[in-house]
Amino acid sequence: MKEACGVFGIYAPGRKVANLTFDGLFALQHRGQESAGMAVSDGNTVTVVRDMGLVATVFDERTLSGLQGHLAIGHTRYSTHGASDWDGAQPVYRPVGRAGFALGHNGNLTNTTELAEKVGMFPGSIVSDSDVVAELLAHAFPETEELSAALQAVLPIVEGAFSFVLMNTQKLFGVRDPYGFRPLCLGRLGPADAPEGWVLASESPALSVIGASFVREIAPGELVVIDEEGPRSVSIPWLKEVGPRLCIFEFAYIARPDSKLYGREVHATRCRMGELLAAQAPAEADLVMGVPESGVPAAEGFARASGIPYGQGLVKNRYIGRSFIAPDQQARGDAVRRKLNPLPETVNGKRLVVVDDSIVRGTTQRSVVRMLREAGATEVHLRISSPPWRWPCFYGIDTPSTDELLAANHTIEEITEILGVDSLAYISVENLKAAIGADGGFCDACFTGDYPTALPTSTPVLFRVREKPVAYQAVLPGV
Ligand code: SF4
Repeated sequence: MKEACGVFGIYAPGRKVANLTFDGLFALQHRGQESAGMAVSDGNTVTVVRDMGLVATVFDERTLSGLQGHLAIGHTRYSTHGASDWDGAQPVYRPVGRAGFALGHNGNLTNTTELAEKVGMFPGSIVSDSDVVAELLAHAFPETEELSAALQAVLPIVEGAFSFVLMNTQKLFGVRDPYGFRPLCLGRLGPADAPEGWVLASESPALSVIGASFVREIAPGELVVIDEEGPRSVSIPWLKEVGPRLCIFEFAYIARPDSKLYGREVHATRCRMGELLAAQAPAEADLVMGVPESGVPAAEGFARASGIPYGQGLVKNRYIGRSFIAPDQQARGDAVRRKLNPLPETVNGKRLVVVDDSIVRGTTQRSVVRMLREAGATEVHLRISSPPWRWPCFYGIDTPSTDELLAANHTIEEITEILGVDSLAYISVENLKAAIGADGGFCDACFTGDYPTALPTSTPVLFRVREKPVAYQAVLPGV
């Protein structure tokens, strides 16, 4: 429905943090490839740079050298519903209060239309749900000069999925919605007894790449404020108590394998998914292989549990992004052919178990099966390490409509035929949860239809405001 984004924030007195923010965003590139941006403060002035493209396209040495300051937030974005142009790029900036603020958002709100009406935004002026939240916060400023007070006033009426990073000239903020749909973690630069700075990131590898240690996950419903006193939690008067519902698809596909969520290393959970899938849906075969890259750990687990040899039957062009988050169907189809190539000497004459992480539209799997058969595979048994995707996501993952979801419109037998495989099995929801083995709660709505929140009653009318990309939004005075 909207974006799967990556957010990053850093507060490190005495350090120039633009380059560290670049590295953090680079580690989060897989979460969004349409635009990138960062806001940097030197204590007096907030500078925002954002543009369409990959992190390394938007920022070069020259751009980074002009971004002076010890405090920053960053964002990588993928959008399908909000404007996919410069206006939709983040961080969003509002020049209000003593110093203005910038905001980066991962997730998708479910009451955007209602929120927009509260601040008198008319349909053609809404760029994204994140833009509406920035406007709500800006409207709170005549009542308060503090961003944390504005957040306390506004967040209780914001519904849906959000992991926000925010900053003004002085402070860094991070907040997760009460369900904790999207991840957000806290890291520390320097030793525990003499911290040199603090970092917020969607995923823990963005901490490691800049030499920060993982401290903890930000709790669902928690607002953290970071300044010279270090991080501290500020309470939010949420309208109701709810349990955590971290997106279970983060484990199956979205997150990097070296991320830690709910204290579990994602790669290890994916291997266990394959092990449980082998027990749940065994197959007679000569070789187990994964669809690179997120299908590979589950394939390793399947091979280990089944005793069937593991091999690499497909080579991935590492310089091509994920087909799932390419912006349209044509691009997705082209991306599969450009991305994956079979190894005929490995697959020729073999009965294959092919493990993939998910089937959304079936584009990837159809192409893969055809390529493997052309390369000489005698049988293809497809095993999927997530359950059938039957319902759309309203919490930040692109599943445009039920019409496009293969499993929403076809039985397993029909999908077997459509994909041209000899057999097909998906992991059960129970086995998926068992493979993760975490105590926290999950959102599994796209597999079960059990949505944790009320669903949007209407689709906000979003509109492109500006046509021409502009790299520099502003160099705005801090006071
Ligand atoms: S609906 Fe699916 S993809 Fe969306 S948050 Fe829930 S589990 Fe994740």
